[in-house]
Amino acid sequence: MSKFLRVKCSCGNEQNVFGHACRRVDCLVCGAALAYPSGSRVRVAEGAKVLKVLN
Ligand SMILES: [Zn+2]
Repeated sequence: MSKFLRVKCSCGNEQNVFGHACRRVDCLVCGAALAYPSGSRVRVAEGAKVLKVLN
C-alpha cells in the first residue's frame, strides 16, 4: 500500500510526499523541510500543510 500526501509548503509550492518516507523531504523550490520520518508514517513539518491524501 503506497500513500502519498499532497503537501503545500509555506512558500506556496505543492508537492507529493510519500506517506512512508524514510528520509526528510525538502521543498523543491525553497529547500525548507516539508516532512520528517516518524515511525511508520511521516510527520509534516511546521509551516507545511497537508492538502489531501492520495491513494
Ligand atoms: Zn517551499
